[in-house]
Amino acid sequence: MIQKKGLGVSNGYSKAKAFVLKKAKVEFEHRYVTDVNAEMNRLNVALDETAKQIESLKEESLQRIGEKNAEIFDAHLMMLTDDTYKERIKYFICDERKDAVYAVDMTKNELKKTFEAIDDEYMRARAADICDISDRLMRNLMGEKDVDISSITEPSVIIAHDLTPSDTARIGSSPVVGFATEIGGKTSHSAIMAAAMNIPAVVALGEGFINDIKNGDLVLIDGREGHIYINPTEDIIKEFDEKKDRYEKEEKRLATFKDKQGVTKDGKRVIIEGNIGTPQDVDKVIENGGEGIGLFRSEFLFMDKTTLPTEEEQFEAYKSVVEKMKDKPVIIRTLDIGGDKNVPALNLPKEENPFLGYRAIRICLHRPHFFKVQARALLRASAFGNLRVMFPMISALEEVKAAKQIFEEAKQELKENNIKFDENIKIGIMIEIPAAAVNAMTLGKYVDFFSIGTNDLIQYSCAVDRINEKISNLYKPLHPSVLRLIKMVGDAAAKNNIECGVCGEMGGSRGMSAILVGLGCTNLSMSASKILRTKDFISRWTYDECKKIAEDMISAESAEENEKYFNEKLKPLTEF
Ligand code: PEP
Ligand code: MG
Repeated sequence: MIQKKGLGVSNGYSKAKAFVLKKAKVEFEHRYVTDVNAEMNRLNVALDETAKQIESLKEESLQRIGEKNAEIFDAHLMMLTDDTYKERIKYFICDERKDAVYAVDMTKNELKKTFEAIDDEYMRARAADICDISDRLMRNLMGEKDVDISSITEPSVIIAHDLTPSDTARIGSSPVVGFATEIGGKTSHSAIMAAAMNIPAVVALGEGFINDIKNGDLVLIDGREGHIYINPTEDIIKEFDEKKDRYEKEEKRLATFKDKQGVTKDGKRVIIEGNIGTPQDVDKVIENGGEGIGLFRSEFLFMDKTTLPTEEEQFEAYKSVVEKMKDKPVIIRTLDIGGDKNVPALNLPKEENPFLGYRAIRICLHRPHFFKVQARALLRASAFGNLRVMFPMISALEEVKAAKQIFEEAKQELKENNIKFDENIKIGIMIEIPAAAVNAMTLGKYVDFFSIGTNDLIQYSCAVDRINEKISNLYKPLHPSVLRLIKMVGDAAAKNNIECGVCGEMGGSRGMSAILVGLGCTNLSMSASKILRTKDFISRWTYDECKKIAEDMISAESAEENEKYFNEKLKPLTEF
């Protein structure tokens, strides 16, 4: 038996025979050409053929993984037709006289290096896309065929070094029940697509793992904990089957919460909403019974692009979300970039302390014309549903006033042009800087709602960079000081008679949800996959019990004391 632990990136359990996908590297000789025109023609034919193949992969995958995930192939088409990419290949052919295959390989390696050097996990993962399209193009130039996953005829677990988006699209129409790869991370395509297809998957099992496995070996995949077993013992199989059974029963039980409102055991209403990054994410929130969108991170419309989205593009995106959510509330956060989120189109200089620097509302107030484009798009979309606007990274009242002023100007412009919008649109702020939390009583007089960004609030309260692994042990959601800040915000919201939401990760941690309710939070927003289990967890406590837990925790002397309390009293109830 072989047993290994990797990173579980898509929940669930599967048991099936292994299909080992060993892809030969694209092998070629370094050749030079004299007739560069003929070589350019050869390249153009292969580019067309590659584009056609990607188009048909997109068609194949639409059904199974949905429009949003199939968009990866649009991105591939864009890369393939991108001038920088083609110009670079042309340079290697025309100036260095390399043959087309060699020229594509050179371009691939250069771009791969560039992507891998970017300080952003998502962008780094795009290196895999460059390799995928380039390898396809090189194979086409050499007249080679792709390895065919669609030849799999019986339920199988794919074992591979990595899965390209093209491979994953093929999985869609084959009886593949899980996969395990040597490399990859939470944001790699294989991970994202596995989750979209509901196929258990474990990645990052380590180089060389594939060599120990043969086609037909029995494989067990535990996508929750990231375990994989090859040719397991009877005892392991028995234990695995029990876990699988418990998991499936729990999933069925949670599904009964879909159409229920979020409410405590004694009937106190807690609105459970979803966080989204793109309009397509709304579907998952609806599928999981979300009662609204508590956070639409609008910056995702701006990232990953070389030009800024126009007012029209933004309007269409916002409108599609509010329309899909019908009359349910949709909170759209204005651009929150900087920190770990980069917008190449803005060409912002690198900073020494990006999380404390030129970011979010600070950029928008510094560039009011740019901000007004978003304001107009949001206001226009507000005519089509229950849209609310939220400003991120507020540290002081002046910022709230200035941002609202820009919205007033945008309203005026729309009125002058007879363009409809919601005159009573609600405007709220994120509370994610301790200065804002402490001053919440005053800020509450000027806004329609609060939403606590615990990810940043913890980072700034504990002075711990949220993405620095080395100090992650100091990042303490249960620090009594953090909890006291949240209580100040909850109290201020109640006094001002406004909603107090939470849209950071803490909101979606089911154990923590009871504490947050006890601290005065009225709305919890989280990724779609956490909505049902949070509704379930909340329903097991009375409001008084939540308040008691919160009181115990804010009077604790240390985070450790609270962690112990959490592990003994709350965590066991989250397990099954
Ligand atoms: C937060 O800070 O908690 C939050 C929700 O915003 P983001 O994670 O996008 O910074
Ligand atoms: Mg934040």
